[in-house]
Amino acid sequence: MKAIRIHGPRDARYEEIPEPKPGPDDVLVKVKAVAICGTDVELFEGTMFYITSGMTKYPFIPGHEWSGEVVETGANVTAFRPGDAVVGECSIGCRKCKRCLKGSYNLCVNRRETGLLGQPGGMAELISYPQHFLHKVEGLSFEQAAFIEPTGIAVNPARKTRITPADRVAVIGPGPIGLFAVQVARAYGARQIILVGDSDFRLQAGLELGADAVVDFRKGDVGERVRDLTNGEMVDAVIEAVGRKSVWPTIASVVAPGARVAMTGLFAGEICDVNFDPLVVQEISVQGSLGAPGMWPECISLHQRGLIRTDRIITHRLALADFAEAIEISRSRREGVIKVLLTP
Ligand SMILES: [Zn+2]
Ligand SMILES: [Zn+2]
Repeated sequence: MKAIRIHGPRDARYEEIPEPKPGPDDVLVKVKAVAICGTDVELFEGTMFYITSGMTKYPFIPGHEWSGEVVETGANVTAFRPGDAVVGECSIGCRKCKRCLKGSYNLCVNRRETGLLGQPGGMAELISYPQHFLHKVEGLSFEQAAFIEPTGIAVNPARKTRITPADRVAVIGPGPIGLFAVQVARAYGARQIILVGDSDFRLQAGLELGADAVVDFRKGDVGERVRDLTNGEMVDAVIEAVGRKSVWPTIASVVAPGARVAMTGLFAGEICDVNFDPLVVQEISVQGSLGAPGMWPECISLHQRGLIRTDRIITHRLALADFAEAIEISRSRREGVIKVLLTP
């Protein structure tokens, strides 16, 4: 089969490799759609944490935002049949350790992560996938279904910050995760959603997808703007989706006392300067957010109920063979680019 494999920093090859052989608990899936994520750009460049820390070894097939159609099932698989439309989770736990048994399989020390850590990704014609981390996606197009994974990356911080209709929410970073976070916050009934960023095109998309207001940090003081927009109350919850050290002063400038902050960005080694005093005296809680353990049925339902739109987020469609070009487009972050979708 044809697949994209990353052999080293900035060395991705579209090449012929043997088809995967599904084991008794695996499902063989024909990949129908796979999206490029900011993490794929970091994987391609070799700056992603799993590579710099030696956890991920070359070569590997990237692609964790994918959907496909079942073609073959292992001997122990009864829940899936050829022809089923499916999506696979990113985190695959061992299902035996203490964290897995508590449902936090995203933190399993023996975990695999699709396209990132030990589990070949979806940038291939076929993927063999463990049945327990696979979900059916009835009624959704393959394109839409490929975005269930990044929706989960937005649902997890929305749950961690416990967004309710009483809360004013700031989403910082109008990239794909931020734009999904705006939609999730809206689905959770947030009282006010403020999207902060620096791209007119993406901020406009945010307004169309449910943000009540946008703040461009190139045009003045974010904290002052948020103070005006919230009648001085500031925000109760922050979803961070930037992953650059410059994000921290922005977060600190918008939080209300007692606010909850969830961080989804990976900083690729950048170190933030943090003044903890205001955090301590305002009892601000800051939590990391990784994956979406146990949240996939909710994410699928959000899509099936029409609460998450992808039409405004997919801006480019290419063939799998055009991976290098897709990475280039994603990395450019130029106006008009949000998400690139590939078809094998
Ligand atoms: Zn991703
Ligand atoms: Zn485990």
